[in-house]
Amino acid sequence: MPERLTGIGVSPGLAAGPLLRVAPAPRLPEPAAVADVEAELTRADVALAAVVTELRRRADSAGRPEAAGILRAQAMIAEDPILRDTIAEAVRAGRDAPHAIADAFAEHRRAFQAAGGYLAERVTDLDDIRDRAVAASLGQPMPGVPTPGYPYVLAARDLAPADTADLDPDLVLALVTELGGPTSHTAILARSLGLPAVVSCAGTLAVPDGTVVRVDGASGEVLTDADEALVAATRTAVAVRRGRADRSRGPGRTADGHEVKLLVNIGSAAELRGEEAAGAEGVGLFRTELLFLDRTTAPGIEEQSRAYAEVFAAVGGRPVVIRTLDAGADKPLPFLDQAGEPNPALGVRGLRIARRRPEGLRTQLHAIELAARRTGADVRVMAPMVATAAEAGEFATTARGAGLDTVGVMVEVPAAALRARRLLEKVDFLSVGTNDLSQYAFAADRQCGDLADLLDPWQPALLELIAGCATAGRTRGRPVGVCGEAAADPLLAVVLAGLGVGSLSMSPRALAPVRAALAAHSLADCERLAALALAADDAEQARAAVRREARPAPD
Ligand code: PEP
Ligand code: MG
Repeated sequence: MPERLTGIGVSPGLAAGPLLRVAPAPRLPEPAAVADVEAELTRADVALAAVVTELRRRADSAGRPEAAGILRAQAMIAEDPILRDTIAEAVRAGRDAPHAIADAFAEHRRAFQAAGGYLAERVTDLDDIRDRAVAASLGQPMPGVPTPGYPYVLAARDLAPADTADLDPDLVLALVTELGGPTSHTAILARSLGLPAVVSCAGTLAVPDGTVVRVDGASGEVLTDADEALVAATRTAVAVRRGRADRSRGPGRTADGHEVKLLVNIGSAAELRGEEAAGAEGVGLFRTELLFLDRTTAPGIEEQSRAYAEVFAAVGGRPVVIRTLDAGADKPLPFLDQAGEPNPALGVRGLRIARRRPEGLRTQLHAIELAARRTGADVRVMAPMVATAAEAGEFATTARGAGLDTVGVMVEVPAAALRARRLLEKVDFLSVGTNDLSQYAFAADRQCGDLADLLDPWQPALLELIAGCATAGRTRGRPVGVCGEAAADPLLAVVLAGLGVGSLSMSPRALAPVRAALAAHSLADCERLAALALAADDAEQARAAVRREARPAPD
């Protein structure tokens, strides 16, 4: 066993503890002869029903609403009548239930892969549901995340949404996966939970369960032979950092008082309830997709308005930026019927949906305005996936026509970043979505682990695009913020402040460490570190150069 594994650090922080792997998938026994076809059909049905029940149970008890959404979407796949028919056909052709299930999923898997794009990326979900159904048909426990009852480092090939949706952040110390990239599900989840994480870490699964490992979520290093002294030192460092972060309070400021607003990304009112979110200066990104998930028709104006009002009321007087529906590509919605796009990430997604369905956008904007009026909240609205100043202008006209005064757009497409000044002639603010801006600037699918180095938000080219937006904002006297995952990395947050970004929006857990990192640097420090990052040739060099020169957060 190697003593040091190296992957990509995607969520900073240290952790030390015993490593446990996600329980393996069941092994299919030799096929058995089927004596009673009806009994075998029932066996397959019961197994699928058990999977659906289990997924729904976990959805109901999931603390986070987006977790519940993921689990319900998986339950829907397990209930798909086409899948059930394919299984029944295989049983009638003489296959026993476990093999019929495996065959049917293999057929679906091939179809998903042949379709390419988004569907091809969903094969992990299919594999996960298959393993659960096969295990259930064999009378075995369903595979998945261990629940040992003590803190541990979770290791996996890759983490499926169903694995992690109800993961207990108090017991999981860190995540390490063999596959995945900086914008993969594992990485986003880890950052939202504030857990250190390393992805694309070859050799992870060869580490025996129970081995005490030390994980560095910034450098991507996983030590499998850490001695007791190092483990103890790591635990002390984690406790000190946690205490320091917990003590950081108040608005975002550099050491010399320069303001950098600290905002949160949310998908529902529930995410505003915690103590961490209470420390935010507002909501920088309210994603509205959750309400539209699992729907065959779009929710009406009243239903939308009620859902938005719940969030606006929970924000309690702080400003809230709500994003219009960002469907398509990595966020498919059944009622939009977008299947068949050869390249969904480059297709009709985000604001582009309004080209086909302008009434959908108008309804949403009216629902937002109604909710804002009912709650008296300070609401700003923005559109995703805007490419041109003309699109920004059209969106602004439609939003203002609906009675919404403060209108912005996300910068997720390089063309928009390059024309930031022109965009700011049409709208009141810009919010840079670094997850998609990385994908489009580097021509690298945000869910592709093999391209993780290109998707790294420390890439100097990405930083240069952000710098251009910030300069445009200063020139026009209009706010420019960052709401992608980049904002949640404390060290990168310092660089973004140095580039001139005025607000950072992140998951609630990331607020305290980002606040502490900003407070440790003056604006001049931030600018110097930003210049170092811009001068580097790649993400790794940029990160290393800044880390060498940055100050530790004060105790
Ligand atoms: C982004 O693209 O950076 C962003 C914040 O939007 P999402 O992750 O929802 O696509
Ligand atoms: Mg985006």
